[in-house]
Amino acid sequence: MGRTKADHARETKMSKTPLLMIPGPIEISDRVREAASSPPPSHVSPALIEAFGTSIEQMRRVWLAAADSQPFAIAGSGTIAMDVAVANLVDPGDRIVLVDTGYFSERMRRMLERRGADVTVVAAAPGDAPSLEDVDTALTAAPTHALFATHVDTSTGVRVDARGLAEVAHAHDALTVLDGVCATAGEELQMDGWGVDVYLTASQKAIGLPAGLALLVVTKRAMEIRHGLKNPPPLSLDWLEWRPVMQAYEERRPAYFSTPATTLILALHAGLDEILGDADDPATAMTSRFDLHARTADALRTAWGILGLTLLPARRDVTANTLSAISYPDGVGTELVGAIRNEGVIVAPGLHPQLRDTYFRVGHMGDVLTRPADVARCVRAVGLGLRACGQEVDIDAALAAVE
Ligand SMILES: *Cc1c(COP(=O)(O)O)cnc(C)c1O
Repeated sequence: MGRTKADHARETKMSKTPLLMIPGPIEISDRVREAASSPPPSHVSPALIEAFGTSIEQMRRVWLAAADSQPFAIAGSGTIAMDVAVANLVDPGDRIVLVDTGYFSERMRRMLERRGADVTVVAAAPGDAPSLEDVDTALTAAPTHALFATHVDTSTGVRVDARGLAEVAHAHDALTVLDGVCATAGEELQMDGWGVDVYLTASQKAIGLPAGLALLVVTKRAMEIRHGLKNPPPLSLDWLEWRPVMQAYEERRPAYFSTPATTLILALHAGLDEILGDADDPATAMTSRFDLHARTADALRTAWGILGLTLLPARRDVTANTLSAISYPDGVGTELVGAIRNEGVIVAPGLHPQLRDTYFRVGHMGDVLTRPADVARCVRAVGLGLRACGQEVDIDAALAAVE
């Protein structure tokens, strides 16, 4: 029986692995995938020690952090990295100002309150970020231990002014702690230059690895807070237990406190190596990486506009480059996510509790940005999905915007 061209096209499409364009986990590079598929090494094997030690050094470069800052790579998720920061920095009764831009700030608030902190929330309407003046006012009200914020809120695609927040916090002698899970290596960060004290992330988002690592870089000043803490953290989260391990690996010595995710450390080394590339200095490497994210996000925003779509973030200066939170057009609802999935691309539904069913999210971070055909595939799938939902759209014009 002869197969028609249409049969063939359908089979090709079905056999094609869907493209993962959610705000984490994300598509990973071939090199990272190869590293992550290595036979699991021992935590004291020379290859692991070398990969771990190099990763620690590379984290300082990717974060653009000071030489005396301490990177931590611990098995875990972004949520664990958040708990690690809270548990090592905050004593019961400490006054914290929390910038609330959505779902993950709310999670941070719960962690801080569980630790007994006295939390003052500075919020904005969903899709917006509070002004630096509002944050300054909250910091002026009483002596404040730390300012916590989410660099990119994954639920709304809102990015805060990390540099401005760190400046305001410094003026009030408060620590700056940033959740960079959906931002690290995608949105500009100069940890040392801006005076950020703790910057944390998880492996499966903009940094481009499989899930499973909680990553933090901590300044000397923030480490000193841990030394003075009255209520120590749970042992497994304690910087003072983990630091000797990180230091040993950096000195290329074996160490043990709790078994690291050894296979993922090999992937971490490969991934950070790719991010840093062969530029002479980390600032140059990171600038070109941030530019790639900014340029691609710009092109995608143009494409979404051509498809008749509008973004959830209120203003351009609070719009993240690592994902698009896109409002459903009139007459279209959550079925769009499935329609896009039918075209071979996985995007994410809304996440903000108040707006969940009014928008969807497309992640655009990491290795996929170096593959123009995949970026175009994503735009085409969104266009075809809209068409399947009854919208009239000019897909070719939208594709031209990302070419
Ligand atoms: C995904 C995410 C988290 C949580 O990370 P998990 O690995 O899912 O625990 C925290 N903060 C932000 C900003 C995120 O995007």
